[in-house]
Amino acid sequence: MRVAIVGAGIAGLACADRLRAAGHKVVLFDKARGAGGRMSTRRTFTPRGDIAFDHGATHFTARSREFRSIVDQWHAQGLVAPWPLAGAHAWVGTPSMNAPLKAQASAHDVWWSSAVTALTRNGEGWWVHIESVRHGPYDAAVVAIPAEQAAPLLSLHDFDMARAAMSVRSHPSWSAMYLFAKPIDTLPDFIRGVGPITYAVRNSAKPGRAPGETWVVQADWTWSETHLTRDPARVCDLLLSALGEAGGTAMPEPLHSDAHRWLFSQPSGRDPELQWNSDIRLGACGDWLAHGFVEYAWQSGSALGRAIAG
Ligand SMILES: Cc1cc2nc3c(=O)[nH]c(=O)nc-3n(C[C@H](O)[C@H](O)[C@H](O)COP(=O)(O)OP(=O)(O)OC[C@H]3O[C@@H](n4cnc5c(N)ncnc54)[C@H](O)[C@@H]3O)c2cc1C
Repeated sequence: MRVAIVGAGIAGLACADRLRAAGHKVVLFDKARGAGGRMSTRRTFTPRGDIAFDHGATHFTARSREFRSIVDQWHAQGLVAPWPLAGAHAWVGTPSMNAPLKAQASAHDVWWSSAVTALTRNGEGWWVHIESVRHGPYDAAVVAIPAEQAAPLLSLHDFDMARAAMSVRSHPSWSAMYLFAKPIDTLPDFIRGVGPITYAVRNSAKPGRAPGETWVVQADWTWSETHLTRDPARVCDLLLSALGEAGGTAMPEPLHSDAHRWLFSQPSGRDPELQWNSDIRLGACGDWLAHGFVEYAWQSGSALGRAIAG
């Protein structure tokens, strides 16, 4: 089979890995310029040169036997490292969060900067529409993007699948990124759940990072929703104050700051679900079909790949 996958985040890539292992040909389409999805790393030009910030997921867990064996392989390749600061099962990509996805993606045919606007089907098979151009035909199609973005692509073909996506609500999240001139010795490397902060991380203290005092502060869902339409510069100011309060310290002026708003950062959880319509060969996967975490997204993609191959 030739299978088109919309979305090359961890779910889409896990699905692609399974399909390729079963001998199928896979093409992935992603609107981003490079690998990561919500495990992205932002590279920014600052007064200290190019600096990287893990502005999506700060870390991920590997608890299930299956995912643990994949993570162990990544570890052996130097793509991830344990990060006990966040818990016994916590891992981070090295030297950046998106490192394992970059490696995974390099083994596949991925079309970057390709926002899919529609999927259509005729007697020849599935067609992937990118602006006014259509690509295909493919024997099967997989939608591996957040629920709110998946629903319109699914609704033309399988209303139950689209309704499942429509019933999900993803929460927004602001991530603020800071570079400081000097180490702030009064702050611990990791702060969890204080005031509006879900996580505040000294990014530069994660394994394998470049030197430089870099921080990423993630606001919780409620705060992010309240401040959804704020100017990013103001969000940086507010979360810098929150970081100072959380650490009980006066914060210096950053050399560089920026904020990213994730409109669909994490969905509300549900029992894991498989979405595969074998009659028309359409499937969906992603964290929205389980829980809003990397490990669940991987499991969703992997389970779908196995179902299609089967
Ligand atoms: C701020 C933040 C903090 C988080 N913290 C944690 C954490 O601590 N631990 C944890 O385990 N998880 C965390 N998560 C959640 C975790 O990142 C996600 O659960 C996981 O990455 C989801 O993977 P996915 O493949 O389902 O979706 P995504 O990673 O979103 O991948 C979907 C891909 O589809 C692409 N795409 C979307 N629409 C289209 C389109 N129309 N056409 C083409 N391509 C498209 C996107 O560019 C993206 O690359 C966090 C997420 C955020 C945003």
